[in-house]
Amino acid sequence: AKSNPNEPEFLQAVQEVAEAVIPFIESNKKYNNKMLLERMVEPERVVMFRVAWIDDSGKTRINKGYRIQMNSAIGPYKGGLRFHPSVNLSILKFLAFEQVFKNSLTTLPMGGGKGGSNFDPKGKSDTEIMRFCQAFMDELFRHIGSDTDVPAGDIGVGGREVGYMFGKYKKLRNEFTGVLTGKGISFGGSLIRPEATGYGTVYFAQSMLATKGTSFKGKSVLVSGSGNVAQYAIEKATQLGAKVVTTSDSSGYIYDADGIDAEKLAYIMEIKNVNYGRISDYVAKYPNAKFIAGKRPWEVKGDIALPCATQNELNGEEAKLLVSNGCICVAEGANMPSTPEAISEFHKAKILFAPGKASNAGGVATSGLEMSQNSLRLSWTTEEVDQRLFKIMSDIHESCVKFGTDEDGYIDYVKGANIAGFVKVADAMLAQGVV
Ligand code: NDP
Repeated sequence: AKSNPNEPEFLQAVQEVAEAVIPFIESNKKYNNKMLLERMVEPERVVMFRVAWIDDSGKTRINKGYRIQMNSAIGPYKGGLRFHPSVNLSILKFLAFEQVFKNSLTTLPMGGGKGGSNFDPKGKSDTEIMRFCQAFMDELFRHIGSDTDVPAGDIGVGGREVGYMFGKYKKLRNEFTGVLTGKGISFGGSLIRPEATGYGTVYFAQSMLATKGTSFKGKSVLVSGSGNVAQYAIEKATQLGAKVVTTSDSSGYIYDADGIDAEKLAYIMEIKNVNYGRISDYVAKYPNAKFIAGKRPWEVKGDIALPCATQNELNGEEAKLLVSNGCICVAEGANMPSTPEAISEFHKAKILFAPGKASNAGGVATSGLEMSQNSLRLSWTTEEVDQRLFKIMSDIHESCVKFGTDEDGYIDYVKGANIAGFVKVADAMLAQGVV
């Protein structure tokens, strides 16, 4: 803590991993040497830079740009870019650290990284977004490459932003390579990538529910967020026979007791992906639903909760409420949405709980599949990618069961994911020597 002051999110993420991994290291001599964990918490490289761009009124604007290259033991750095005013070094280091373990869990050869900017895309015109993305890539291009570091999207960075950044990279480098993932289908993107994180979270929750002999069928589901991850979590849960009754954004949540069906989801996509608007607009078209301003959906009764918005969006009190309302399963679509107090409530109540680094790994796994397709210069079909995604999610579930099952049979997915993720990276670091 002393050497990373003012980095609470990073320390929170490290603490979670350390609590799971230290007892494992102590009982496995092989990993108990050469300051392995101490090396892992130190990024291999941090790049911070100025992003200067010109807005539509001709005014010069300045933002901070970052890329955290956390660990390259098992493959090129890989992880998304986040554009949000809350972005700072602590948040990106926490995300990069989590990414190392998540990427290892996918079984694909990807190291961990993360980056972004405190740029706020809300209310910006399309040309402002383009100029910002180009200015950001004007510096980032020298630090990335298809065999070095392969960024992707995250909060505030979707297909449009990846497209603008890819265009600029290609121009600067004069080469067409798979340097970014989440690209458009016409220029190297993979089918199912937009769906992958949300679908993967639901596939993972399906495996969790199966350990209790149950499924999504007939369950009521609480989803937070209304962005990329939330949208496809809603779609897949509904396809599997569940009724999703909530969705949200940073201004509040929607409660729709009738369930968010395919038609209503198409409207959410129009609000969020086409108009870049607010979720409160939902009630204008569907007046039976309610918009609850300034609150989060965890006060609603539901069987399954899928937090898909952002970090620390589900606290201890809200976790208690979920449990007392009969929730049996929480699978994180977002990164670190549950606070440590919330996780401890879920564990105390012995309900199913999966941390994002396991349950939301489908996004980066499919990005890995996009990298493979780019290297092969081939495109796989929807079915092929979806089947691979499904298989990867059930393999990750198996790894969590293997390393996380307690003596009483309770599956501690936090312990399982952290140890399983750690082992592969640790083996590679030990084999490569102290570098
Ligand atoms: P989007 O930008 O598409 O959507 C983010 C959603 O979360 C929006 O509904 C947004 O509301 C809400 N949100 C963002 N910040 C806050 C906040 N501070 N308080 C409340 N709500 C907030 O992002 P994604 O769907 O891509 O990402 C969601 C989460 O999933 C993040 O934690 C991300 O790291 C994680 N993730 C994403 C992956 C991906 O493939 N996209 C892969 C793995 C994890 P508003 O519109 O009001 O800002």
